[in-house]
Amino acid sequence: MNMTIPPRKEVITDIKNHGGLVAAVLPIHYSRALLRAFSIYPVEVWGPPKVDVSLGGAHLQAYICSIVHNGLSFLKMGGLNIADLILIPHTCDSLQGLTSVLIDLIQPEQVIIPLYLPRGQREEDVAFLVDEFRSLYTRFSDLTGKHPTSKDLLTAIKREEMSDLLLTKLYKNRQQVGLSNIDFYRLVRSREYLPAEHFSTLAEKTLQAATEPRPGIPIILSGILPEPMEVLTMIDKMSGLIVADDLACCGRRLYAPGTSPDPFRRMAERIVYAPPDPTRGNSIEERLKYLTEMAQNSGAQGVIFYEVKFCEPELFDLPSLRAGLKEQGLASIIIEVDINNSLPRQVATRIGAFLEMLDS
Ligand code: SF4
Repeated sequence: MNMTIPPRKEVITDIKNHGGLVAAVLPIHYSRALLRAFSIYPVEVWGPPKVDVSLGGAHLQAYICSIVHNGLSFLKMGGLNIADLILIPHTCDSLQGLTSVLIDLIQPEQVIIPLYLPRGQREEDVAFLVDEFRSLYTRFSDLTGKHPTSKDLLTAIKREEMSDLLLTKLYKNRQQVGLSNIDFYRLVRSREYLPAEHFSTLAEKTLQAATEPRPGIPIILSGILPEPMEVLTMIDKMSGLIVADDLACCGRRLYAPGTSPDPFRRMAERIVYAPPDPTRGNSIEERLKYLTEMAQNSGAQGVIFYEVKFCEPELFDLPSLRAGLKEQGLASIIIEVDINNSLPRQVATRIGAFLEMLDS
């Protein structure tokens, strides 16, 4: 299928030409709707790969992950100059450290706004996030001079909910939409910078072009993000078929619609009740149940944990999680990468051997 996804630069230029503001947003969870209600367009920064990391390295310890190293280096190269603000969710200690380095030492031109996230799914966690979103509302009002009403907020929320429903539908029909692994994730990851309405149009077109299911060795991809993206082409070439994922940038953000008529609560519900994620405090048991059901529903035969080196929240769970999966008859493998490096040859060898083992 022929699909044209507008490049990030073109989208940002278009936003600016139409008088919108741009927020550079670091991983993982935040409310797109809250930003959009102020005509601030989120453009996510997951790295990016392949930058001069010596720029960020001067301020960070060597054992901080490449997402943070690259993010800071990219900022110092001027890559975020187009952004009007930088939103940093408190996903992990490394991102919290980055917030401090930016606020206390580097002091870039853009305002730095942290977002604290709760670590559970109790009523107190929802209430905490409601308060966080209310204080962000005040900060965005101060910044833009705008005061969106509840109705404006709900309109923005419903636009994002529609886009996320289409994203979920793409996931459910992923084997029928005729896309290779690389093309499927190019489309899914365009949600990181495309305005919701643009993404919805692309998703609808893709869903209309449904075709025969693709063949391949069915696997789940877990981890933070599929970077460098060559890994997906490599899996395509080795006849691997990613039938479901537990990736922080993708499947862990299949947010269900909220239910509350109160916009702040509705935005909070969507994140608090999202699929399990170690950075939001879900237990290993919850993740194990989720991954086991995911494998049963998708027919996956094994899990590739494709991890960013030094990512503590991910790596900490893996020994128990893999042992639990093994008990359920699910094989798994861990691949650790630095997103700034090309894929080492040894990664191809290990993924190839894993797929062969599943297929035998
Ligand atoms: S890769 Fe892991 S350690 Fe790095 S920013 Fe993401 S969650 Fe934090």
